Amino acid sequence: MGKRSVPERLAALAVLESRVEPGHRSYSGIKSDLEMRLAGFAGEKKADFYLEEARVKEKPVVLKDVMIPSGIKHVQVDTLVLHPAFILVLEIKNMTGELHFDEETGQFYRVKNGVREGMRNPEDQLNRAVIATERFLASIDLPVKVHGAIVLASYNGLIVQGPVSRPIFPVDRLPGHVEKLEKENRAILRRSDLHYVDDTIKLLSREKQDQYFKWYNLTDIDIELGVRCPGCFKIGMERGHGKWSCTDCKTTSTDAHHATLEEYRLMYGEEITSKKMRDFIQVPNLYLANRLLRERFPTANKNKRNKRYQIKPDLSLLEPFINHLLYRK
Ligand SMILES: [Zn+2]
Repeated sequence: MGKRSVPERLAALAVLESRVEPGHRSYSGIKSDLEMRLAGFAGEKKADFYLEEARVKEKPVVLKDVMIPSGIKHVQVDTLVLHPAFILVLEIKNMTGELHFDEETGQFYRVKNGVREGMRNPEDQLNRAVIATERFLASIDLPVKVHGAIVLASYNGLIVQGPVSRPIFPVDRLPGHVEKLEKENRAILRRSDLHYVDDTIKLLSREKQDQYFKWYNLTDIDIELGVRCPGCFKIGMERGHGKWSCTDCKTTSTDAHHATLEEYRLMYGEEITSKKMRDFIQVPNLYLANRLLRERFPTANKNKRNKRYQIKPDLSLLEPFINHLLYRK
């Protein structure tokens, strides 16, 4: 089914949160957005685990963090399960506290430690995702009904008042739900259809660069420069004798700049010049910056004086850093 890779936006927030001064006016916003995405990601990973447990005759194709085209916009779907007998959209919530779906007002709120807090209604989010997915499938000549469910990834989330139109259940019930859908529905899609949906979504959602600097009111001087240590994840490794070393935890590395360049890509896009490289990874000379770039990436232009290199996206380089954030609590 494939491992869920680190979502791009979560990785970008983790990079920003660690490189922007806590005193910056946007810092608390970045930090709370990061915490929210980390919790969401932890929930999605849990759901992946349980999906694998389902005892089904036909193995589903599971798509993660996909953008479904909807008019001129996109609707984000955490998990989309494609099976010959059913299509299922999962809205995964990693929430704690007592959860209330108010049928009359359409409001959603939770009560935690006696405090009532209004939030975006997951049922509305799910309905929007289901409708967008149905429309999208119809537009590629696969007019099928799409199912939806809300999955609670945290056992500390208690449903006091459930949603009206959609099932909701704790994550360990997910295998049973998928098995039931297979049993109750007739196969309507061929395996080739499932792959066609997968390919089309991937093609359409090839993402444009997100505008983090604009969203958080940041400029270049707000970003701390330097190579991140692969041992303790602090920024500012020193270069010497052909390798990087951390003055803090004494870790040494020959390729720590690879992950740091992936951080650069998340913030600034895929192109980099040797001058920008020199500044970002804090090496003393352009010659070294050039060499480190040349041995890894192709040039993006022919101009000799102002050579630009193309950073090849590889989010797996940031997985150790993200896992460190996930499990540090
Ligand atoms: Zn270190």
